[in-house]
Amino acid sequence: YAAKVNGGRQQRYLPILDERATEHAELGAQLRTGLDDGQFFLVYQPIVELPGGRVSSVEALVRWRHPERGLVNPVEFVPVAEHNGLIVELGAWILRESCERLQAWRAELGPAAPERVSVNVSARQLSEPGFPALVATVLRETALPAACLTVEVTETAVFDSSTALDALRAVKALGVRIALDDFGTGHSSLGLLRTAPVDVLKVDKSFVDDVAGPGEQSVIATALIDVSNHLGLTAIAEGVETHEQADALYRMGYRYVQGYLFGRPSERPDFAALALAG
Ligand code: C2E
Ligand code: MG
Ligand code: MG
Ligand code: MG
Repeated sequence: YAAKVNGGRQQRYLPILDERATEHAELGAQLRTGLDDGQFFLVYQPIVELPGGRVSSVEALVRWRHPERGLVNPVEFVPVAEHNGLIVELGAWILRESCERLQAWRAELGPAAPERVSVNVSARQLSEPGFPALVATVLRETALPAACLTVEVTETAVFDSSTALDALRAVKALGVRIALDDFGTGHSSLGLLRTAPVDVLKVDKSFVDDVAGPGEQSVIATALIDVSNHLGLTAIAEGVETHEQADALYRMGYRYVQGYLFGRPSERPDFAALALAG
């Protein structure tokens, strides 16, 4: 749709944009059917506590089992759903499904169940007037304690938006935790950490990638754990893939990590096996 936004001027020069616009329109139309036909499902990735490797929580990540395209990843369809507004309905389903799943794990596994489920919420959802009420309703109807839910938002979604900040305050007032996702990649402002009602800072994978490398490459990751500690926030390092990274992060003071090293997103993560592997 980028081409359309520019009045179609770019289409002549950039046929790729044209193709992408067609694909966006196509996916957008199919999202409706996908929702009605139950083509979406959630996978869960463990967030692990160091040094023991105990699974402290899980992040819910949406997937689309598309009848023709096969498995479609959220980076492809979430922006489309945000653009045409269906993210509001899809997001409500994701929230409810996540809370139900954690309740089922709690009933099944008792204390071995993760303590929380973390749900990604897009800017569009957050600025819907009914969002805090939706969260309250879902918690009540699934009987999940508010303390068992974390809402993940990006800095970009809350930066400069008083509506989004008000919504976050209302959600936090329910007892839900708020995480700033992909921290350091958007409209980064350390001031936001003071003014926004944030409990958790998710340090983006781009700062984790080089953390085991030489000196200055890990400077941001070091700074962010220090800021988190000073402000009383919980830091989670995203995208940890190697033992070297996990060791380096632990030495810096990180106690919560997430990444392929500890588990890929899966429909049914094996919490017990993970705890032993860690
Ligand atoms: P995110 O919230 O930052 O999620 C983390 C992404 O990193 C996930 O990709 C996850 O599979 C991937 N990841 C985790 N560990 C590793 C690792 O060690 N290495 C690498 N290379 N990647 C890792 P995924 O599931 O494709 O989701 C991408 C993004 O799409 C998410 O980024 C989030 O912004 C968005 N998204 C996913 N699910 C939802 C949803 O239910 N609602 C909304 N609004 N957005 C969602
Ligand atoms: Mg996330
Ligand atoms: Mg993230
Ligand atoms: Mg990320």
